[in-house]
Amino acid sequence: MKHIAFFGLGNMGAGMAANLLSAGYSVTVYDLVASQVAALVAKGAKGATTPIDAVSDADVIISMLPAGRHVKQLYFGGQSQDTNDAGISAHTKQGAVFIDCSTIEAEDARDISQQLHDLGFAFADAPVSGGVAGAAAGTLTFIVGGEKSAVDTITPILEAMGKNIFHAGDAGAGQVAKICNNMLLAVLMAGTSEALQLAIDNGIDATVMSEIMKKSSGNNWTLQTYNPCPGVMESVPSSNQYQGGFMVDLMNKDLGLAMATASTHQSVVPMGALAKSLYQLHALNGNGKKDFSSIFEALQQK
Ligand code: NAD
Repeated sequence: MKHIAFFGLGNMGAGMAANLLSAGYSVTVYDLVASQVAALVAKGAKGATTPIDAVSDADVIISMLPAGRHVKQLYFGGQSQDTNDAGISAHTKQGAVFIDCSTIEAEDARDISQQLHDLGFAFADAPVSGGVAGAAAGTLTFIVGGEKSAVDTITPILEAMGKNIFHAGDAGAGQVAKICNNMLLAVLMAGTSEALQLAIDNGIDATVMSEIMKKSSGNNWTLQTYNPCPGVMESVPSSNQYQGGFMVDLMNKDLGLAMATASTHQSVVPMGALAKSLYQLHALNGNGKKDFSSIFEALQQK
């Protein structure tokens, strides 16, 4: 059985690491926050006090961190005055494979892949879709970039944390595919909100309008499972004051990554850029911690 070192036990990582333990893997965990390590130790993980301790016998390294700079710092160091600070890659045994599940810039993922390759390690970028609930339930979708041999090696491990595993292409392709999906999601959520509000402003009931669109050409995922208008659907964030779900701040992060990726090949993304502006304004108006379907409120007549 492979030994896994898991870094980043936040909203997503805690559930993912717990599912690896449930699947019988031996997991050593590390987070900057000691209480988050303790919570996983209580579930059977081995707790590490330093990142280097965590990788001492690891065959697989998994990271679930906020952004690319955190991943680079963890893997390659270079942020402290200590000239010996070369990150965990300098202390990992040969043959180990690195899997980064964080959502980061595709360019960072390609750069990390190249650096690890030069050191003799395999790497896959494996960002996820499915949110905190999917991480806890083990139902995430993994969108993977990397060499096929590495992806084949890590697939059983990803299957312990998710139910859909896609190989999108070479290193960085997982990140590109993920932000393409999330850019479309932002556009769909804003467009669905706009259409529903136009109907409401003209006297049509939101539930009736939703049913009409679900059986017509405007049908989409937000109408089917995540209606943004309060009261239309039970057990979705719009019917719970937009609490839970996927935060506006995280959607803004992903839209920022989408715009950065678009600029590398001069891709034309007018709808994504508009959605980015809308969500940015929504966050500036104090809604950053609400679920992203709260964009509906920004389009309501006061
Ligand atoms: P989070 O802020 O809850 O957790 C990040 C964790 O990383 C924190 O516990 C932090 O202490 C830890 N950390 C930071 N630097 C570290 C280091 N050097 N070593 C060890 N631990 C370190 O974030 P999250 O919501 O779990 O998201 C993690 C990643 O997953 C992000 O890239 C995010 O964009 C992506 N993501 C989040 C969601 C979501 O719904 N929350 C959905 C899909 C993808």
